[in-house]
Amino acid sequence: MLDTLGSKLKDTLGKISKSLFVDEKLLDEVVRDIQRAMLQADVNVQLVLSLTKKIKERAKKEESGLNKKEQLVTIIYEELVSFFGTKKELSFQTETTRIMLVGLYGSGKTTTTGKLASYYKKRGKKVAVVGLDVHRPAAMQQLEQVAKQADVDCYISPGEKDPIAIWKSLENKVDNYDVVFIDTAGRDALSSELIKEIEEVTEAIQPQEKLLVISGDIGQAAQKQAQQFHDSCGITGVIVTKMDGTAKGGGALTACAITESPILFVGVGEKLDALETFNPEGFVSRLLGMGDIEALLEKAKTAIKEEDAEDLSAKFMKGDFDLTDLHQQMQALKKMGSMSKMMEMIPGMGKLKMPKEMLDVQEEKMEKWKYIISSCTEEEKKNPDVMSGSRVERIAKGSGTTTHEVRDLLKHYKQSKKMMKKFGGSEKKMEKMMKKFGGM
Ligand code: GDP
Ligand code: MG
Repeated sequence: MLDTLGSKLKDTLGKISKSLFVDEKLLDEVVRDIQRAMLQADVNVQLVLSLTKKIKERAKKEESGLNKKEQLVTIIYEELVSFFGTKKELSFQTETTRIMLVGLYGSGKTTTTGKLASYYKKRGKKVAVVGLDVHRPAAMQQLEQVAKQADVDCYISPGEKDPIAIWKSLENKVDNYDVVFIDTAGRDALSSELIKEIEEVTEAIQPQEKLLVISGDIGQAAQKQAQQFHDSCGITGVIVTKMDGTAKGGGALTACAITESPILFVGVGEKLDALETFNPEGFVSRLLGMGDIEALLEKAKTAIKEEDAEDLSAKFMKGDFDLTDLHQQMQALKKMGSMSKMMEMIPGMGKLKMPKEMLDVQEEKMEKWKYIISSCTEEEKKNPDVMSGSRVERIAKGSGTTTHEVRDLLKHYKQSKKMMKKFGGSEKKMEKMMKKFGGM
């Protein structure tokens, strides 16, 4: 169900967790991704815009203990949850609970009556179904069949043309059940005739719940239908069927969610057990694959400690860093992806020509640098410029490396320093970006 929407949203969250920091550009991109995914799922444009507006506003405004990436993911999650409505479950009375299903032709009323009967029977309720569809010739037989599959008692009255009369004749028989599901007749559209019939049947049955069964494949058109039924017949909940095999399900769900009646179940197939309870939190968690997202966020968090990053980037910006800082920075970057990737993300830097060796430091090299640095004296680490030929030799011996490798590190250090000084002095914007990088 809604696989495409789910995988698109997952990709978007993946993008957040892989990015170095949350900035305007990322936020714009994320919001655009969400809009595109939602529109493809046939969600109403206005709804989509108001959702993404909220996400953007909150992301810009809210401060929290979380880091910015976690915070953004949390905001998206929360806004989506409220976008898909509120949670409601059917409640049962001590006396027989009467639950009536209404809806248009072919929306899935009879099928869903059987599904609900089976669902609650499996949960220990004594269940009966009643057929009041007097319009469709084979409606009663169809209900009888699904009731048999669900293994529940079925009350029908073939030949009788008045639903109220049928109900009157059954009323005391169904008193023995915990719950009775009542299948009613539909029409092609919500005509005055259908409204009248629903009103009369409601009057006779006094159901505790009047559930609208609506087909998910009509997409955002579900809003109008749900609203009309709500206004003229006073429904208490919605069941959206045929969510399997429709790409428009997102539209139907969100459309129903903004009417005053919550979605209780969704139908995901023709079979009796193809019914799922609907709760926005669980639904969105599954849609987004929260398990995956949490893992991704965790990874991003451990890549670099925020204070360290901030500290380092400040030092780097001034060109004021020593060998240990350099190594730490390189390692942190390594964990988060390649340096060249990071450069691409910082505005203005992608276009600058960087020495290739500065950008692509291999793992192996980094390992050696660690040994080299640990063989340096404190003075040498702090001020690598003092490094003479004899010192280089000593360090190479001490660290089990070659003088060539020691010189390579020094060269890299000098290049980095030169470059950072240049940027630091000339580009205020760059400094800001590096700070953001620190506080990601
Ligand atoms: P009614 O006219 O409202 O009573 O609708 P029915 O219960 O007769 O269903 C109409 C058609 O939709 C039938 O062919 C059902 O098998 C099918 N149907 C109902 N619910 C679902 C669902 O969740 N998924 C799919 N794929 N088909 C469904
Ligand atoms: Mg029917």
